[in-house]
Amino acid sequence: MSLVHRICAENANLSPKVIGNKGLSLCKMMTLRLNVPHGFIFSTELFRCFEHNQTLPAVFESDLRFAIKNLELDTGQIFGGLDNPLLVSVRSGAAASMPGMMDSFLNIGMRYDALKTPADDALYIALIYGYASLIHEIYLDEEADMNLTGRDLVHEYLRLYHEHTGIEFPQDPFVQIKNAMIAVLKSVHNRRAKTYRMLNNISADDMATAVIIQKMVIGNTGDNQTFSGSGVANSRNPNTGHSPVMGEFMRNHQGDMIVGGRIIPDNLNIIQKYNPVLHNDLCDKLLKLERLFLFPVEVEFTIENNILWFLQVRKVKISDEALIYFAVEQTDCQNISGDDALMLVKPRMIERFLHASVDDDHHHVILDTGVAASPGAASGHAVFTADDAVRYHAEGKKAILIRHETSPEDIYGMFSAAAILTARGGMTSHAAVAARGMGRPCVTGVNKIKISVSDGTLTAGERVIKTGDMITVNGTTGDILWGAVKIKPPEPPESFYQFNTMASQRSRMNIRTNIDSLDEADLALDFQTSGIGLYRTEYALYKESDIQNIRKMVLAQTVAQRELIAADMQNAQILHFRRLFEKMNNLPVTVRLLDPPLHEFFSDTAENYADIAEKMNMTVSDLTQRLRDLKEFNPMLGVRGCRVGILYPEIYRFQTLFILTAAMQVGQNTGIYPDVEIMIPFVGFESEFKTIKDNILSVYQDILSQDSDMPRPKIGAMIEIPRAALCADKIAQNADFLSFGTNDLTQTVLGISRDDSPRFMQYYMRKKLVDFDPFVTLDIDGVGMLIAIAVKKAREANPNIIIGLCGEHGADPECVDFCEMIGIDYLSCSAYRMASARLAAAQSSIKAGT
Ligand code: PEP
Ligand code: MG
Repeated sequence: MSLVHRICAENANLSPKVIGNKGLSLCKMMTLRLNVPHGFIFSTELFRCFEHNQTLPAVFESDLRFAIKNLELDTGQIFGGLDNPLLVSVRSGAAASMPGMMDSFLNIGMRYDALKTPADDALYIALIYGYASLIHEIYLDEEADMNLTGRDLVHEYLRLYHEHTGIEFPQDPFVQIKNAMIAVLKSVHNRRAKTYRMLNNISADDMATAVIIQKMVIGNTGDNQTFSGSGVANSRNPNTGHSPVMGEFMRNHQGDMIVGGRIIPDNLNIIQKYNPVLHNDLCDKLLKLERLFLFPVEVEFTIENNILWFLQVRKVKISDEALIYFAVEQTDCQNISGDDALMLVKPRMIERFLHASVDDDHHHVILDTGVAASPGAASGHAVFTADDAVRYHAEGKKAILIRHETSPEDIYGMFSAAAILTARGGMTSHAAVAARGMGRPCVTGVNKIKISVSDGTLTAGERVIKTGDMITVNGTTGDILWGAVKIKPPEPPESFYQFNTMASQRSRMNIRTNIDSLDEADLALDFQTSGIGLYRTEYALYKESDIQNIRKMVLAQTVAQRELIAADMQNAQILHFRRLFEKMNNLPVTVRLLDPPLHEFFSDTAENYADIAEKMNMTVSDLTQRLRDLKEFNPMLGVRGCRVGILYPEIYRFQTLFILTAAMQVGQNTGIYPDVEIMIPFVGFESEFKTIKDNILSVYQDILSQDSDMPRPKIGAMIEIPRAALCADKIAQNADFLSFGTNDLTQTVLGISRDDSPRFMQYYMRKKLVDFDPFVTLDIDGVGMLIAIAVKKAREANPNIIIGLCGEHGADPECVDFCEMIGIDYLSCSAYRMASARLAAAQSSIKAGT
């Protein structure tokens, strides 16, 4: 393969791995017939040969001379000539863009004997300066007597060059160009480039640089009769994404002065004053480039005697807000397709618009860093109990709820808190899941911080934070900060909502919402949900009943006792579900029957038993005995989920009655019966599902006898246990829908406790035993494989079955791609994650062509 490629439109389809990103963009500009200075590119193969042998390959000399000969023919000038010589620039250009990190040479080919005008002198001085600094690391500007001008200054530079290096400045243009090229190849290893690659995760493969040689166009012709200069222009404002073009220009200067920040340039609009036609031409070309690159661009350009030359174009780094604005605006003007616009934005990025952030301009003291469990940031007063959080909130103060871990009982404290910090837990622990649902920032699993709930203190090294002291939680980074800091509120721009609608229209899969409360149902509607994919009813029980009622229900020994308690709860529960169904109108609502292990209803310590016993009308010793009976070695794998419904069928029957009565009443009042889906959690055996389904249907029969129009609710199973996945066909035969609860499924497939995983998962990741946290990113090879098997079996057994996924992975882009591939019907995630899930789903549809 040849080492040399011409800069021409025909080479616009070469790989950036061969001619570098900059080289490729020059060729692309040629496809638009823009004025790009003639030139050629030594491919990255040259770099690889040089790296390997530390010398240029044998063919280099002849290739270079041949390419220069062609360039002389193209330009009609002679390289190293005495009259109007051909001068070239020598620049780097790797596959990955590394702006300004590697070396570039200008005016190569200029000889002392060719100097005629003061402008020639200036070019020559720039050549000597650049050559001396990049090859010998000598900075002649710092030493030269700047009172000298013109030819005298040239002599000063030549003298200083000789003094420092012991050799004369090379006059042979081929010596100049060869040394410049070697310096460019070596600059791949300079500190700047290394750091940039490290910070931007650029692989060793993408660091190989091409070398670009182009005829110089001169911005400092020194001729005041014609218009010359150099500039940098953006196709739009990179902060807002708004038009018009903007940039900087310097009359009678070369571009490196602006790019290097060595002078203060004028506004781009100054070109308008000197040459409006040229200004319009520049604006027009910028828009054309934007369309070609499907992205806002930045160009470096030079005007040489009224002719506009484009030296470089690159996709410009723009703010998230600008990117969304661009995507929506360009789709509206039909400059780019909706699909291209949707592919521009990374799903994880879109979520950031919805969360407050820490103002990074200030110095912060980080007390510890844990798992960034729910994004956003808040400062507030430290509190150590849910009750204190509620109290502070009622007093109009912001509280940060600090716990070892949380349970459903803490939920109203969590609601009242501005942010949550738990010492234990990870991405799918109770605190994390609930906080994400509410949009509260949350950090879990901190190591250095010690918490004492009984003392009301948090200790981080020397610092002790007591109840009421200020503290900050940054759930986006996982940092816990000392004191209060400046917080920037979320400001989703108008285009965010339009973009969201575009994504919604394009995705095959529906995006539903996981909610824990009626407030979250409102949030789900604000975020244009397709329905509720998971309503965790334990929170309904907490909200509408005295906690004592639920405790009584659990502690009761007979069905008759439970019936009395249910009767007490009935009105409030029915009203609660009515409000939920009314809000959701006729969108589907998946209501999950009681799931958590029963011990979670008794998180109090033994000191409180007397109090509980009194409220329960029991003796302390009876209560202690009953709690001892309920105690389990591993409650997460004990009496929870549908096992509650098997052991205590009346509990699920009451819940079903509340739900269906509410649905019936809404239907009777509005004429539209809600689309109710009752979901049975933690199913393992098809017999469990069948038994509970029959229980639900018998309640439905009772309702039907009151209202013959009442539609049958859909009844489905949550697949959270490997057996259920492997036997999905048997469950599907009887089910209307299945929903993968990947939080628990990950826990049960991997045999890793979702609450305890951070204790070793971070270590596993550091040691590269795994390259992702399976509670954040779906373990496609393991858990995913099981889901794929289950989907296939379920669909074979019941082609009409609806299949969803409602674990926290539902908003993770890789998981979304996978769900698209295996034909999942809907994803359900917390409200604040819907925008990114929706975008990921749209992108998956685009990639899959669905
Ligand atoms: C799950 O297990 O994935 C799930 C959604 O349920 P929960 O998080 O409530 O256990
Ligand atoms: Mg679960």
